[in-house]
Amino acid sequence: MKADRLRVAIIGSGFSGLCVAIQLKKAGVKSFAVFEKANALGGTWRDNTYPGAACDVPSISYCFSFEQKTDWSRKWAPHDEILGCLEHCARKYELLPHIRFGTEIAGAVFDQAEGAWHLRTTSGETFVADFLVCGTGQLNRPSTPVIPGASDFRGECFHSARWDHGYDMTGKTVGVIGNASSAIQFIPQITKQVAELFVFQRTPNWMLPRGDRPFTDFERSLFAKLPWLVKLYRWWNWARLEVLFYPVIRRNETLSRRAREVSLENMRSLIPDPTLQEKLIPDYPPGAKRILITDDYYQALARPNVHLVTAPIDRITRDSIITKDGEARRVDVLIYATGFQTTEFLAPMKIHGVGGKSLDEEWNNGARAYLGISVAGFQNMFMMYGPNTNLGHNSIIFMIECQTRYIVECIRQAVRGGLKWIDVRDDVMDLYNAEIQQKLAGSVWAQVDHSWYKNDSGVITNNWSGSTLEYWWKTRHVDLGAYRQEARSFQGANVAAAA
Ligand code: NAP
Repeated sequence: MKADRLRVAIIGSGFSGLCVAIQLKKAGVKSFAVFEKANALGGTWRDNTYPGAACDVPSISYCFSFEQKTDWSRKWAPHDEILGCLEHCARKYELLPHIRFGTEIAGAVFDQAEGAWHLRTTSGETFVADFLVCGTGQLNRPSTPVIPGASDFRGECFHSARWDHGYDMTGKTVGVIGNASSAIQFIPQITKQVAELFVFQRTPNWMLPRGDRPFTDFERSLFAKLPWLVKLYRWWNWARLEVLFYPVIRRNETLSRRAREVSLENMRSLIPDPTLQEKLIPDYPPGAKRILITDDYYQALARPNVHLVTAPIDRITRDSIITKDGEARRVDVLIYATGFQTTEFLAPMKIHGVGGKSLDEEWNNGARAYLGISVAGFQNMFMMYGPNTNLGHNSIIFMIECQTRYIVECIRQAVRGGLKWIDVRDDVMDLYNAEIQQKLAGSVWAQVDHSWYKNDSGVITNNWSGSTLEYWWKTRHVDLGAYRQEARSFQGANVAAAA
């Protein structure tokens, strides 16, 4: 390996990229770089700084299991603590010298003869690496719908993932388009400050009470002194989510009915107005879109200065949002809480594998990969949080750790075996995807027409089909029999020695 050739190139410094970097370091690999387009690390937790941003799975499960944080302030951690946790990991594992900030990868091409990826940045720099790990995730490119007249709007306007903290909303009239995970976190935070707020809701969501509270000093001192207790607490949380919510995804009638009852009971207890109540009841089963958890959204909606608009948006003018019933709401501020471009994985990067084939072509009918990690024809390339690995019921950190273990083991085996490249077999990938798509057809996600889990053709491209236990089982060992491979001219190097 030439000195300027990397063993591994990692794209993205969010949870995924950092996890891979840490485990590569632990495996003795020194020659790796993390390419980060922004000037700071943290991925989605760097970008989503809106008021009230917090995790929607219990904090105890929302950090790496090998770097368990014991001093979370609350049961559902606020944004700053999660980002702080990632920064801590980067410092502790001395990753900062490996991260190339402000370096956006435009594309990568695999040279089969050389067994190497050639990466090109948007500023024209080039890098060469044996292995490519893409850790750009599913929630990194904000989606802003095309609404007629939107470009004429002259007020303040931004996406929730690009919050303008310099703008003072005090006394302003605000329009929020969207009412899902992001919106329900920031709306309660701004309602007291703004004069009026219109929430433009296209589809109501099932919501459950979060039950958030600060951890007491006593609890935190116990966590700090008894690491086994934190471990136990984490596993209890994991098991509870598997047992209570995974069956909802699998259309278990009893638990779905229970989720529906708890949700409606909670909503009716907080929203006195029956007309408003009606507008908040979804017509699809719980779990078909992400079940939202909140302790304060309904209270915010019940405030006299907050108005829920359910008429579809027709157009936007220089100062108003006009709905299809002809009503105009004048707003000073327009906030798009409209989510992310989730189904075009790795976009806008142009990735070319064997014979110049592009990932765009490969994914013409929807993104797919073996274990959400490997794509046939794209040798020595691995994805973190790739196609069909998102969850609707448990912590994504669990999946990220499974993927990291698998990828580092692939690299270890390939290097130790003196392989120039490995490439998942087409038949293995086809069979795997046929199986998961068949299972997904029986999931609750198949019961709605659109969600961010599906592409325009209705294929569920984002979510994992089974329990987290099943994913762990499938990724626990690497069987290189599932991969085509070619040997390098040298043999026998071990991963640390060849690092
Ligand atoms: P999202 O779930 O995709 O929600 C987008 C919202 O915008 C929906 O209400 C959607 O309505 C609406 N919308 C989209 N296009 C529209 C249009 N043209 N006209 C009117 N309404 C439109 O996005 P998100 O709330 O940002 O959340 C995305 C994901 O990020 C979550 O599911 C979650 O996984 C993650 N997240 C996590 C946290 C956390 O852990 N704290 C916080 C925020 C987000 P429809 O339902 O009708 O499509």
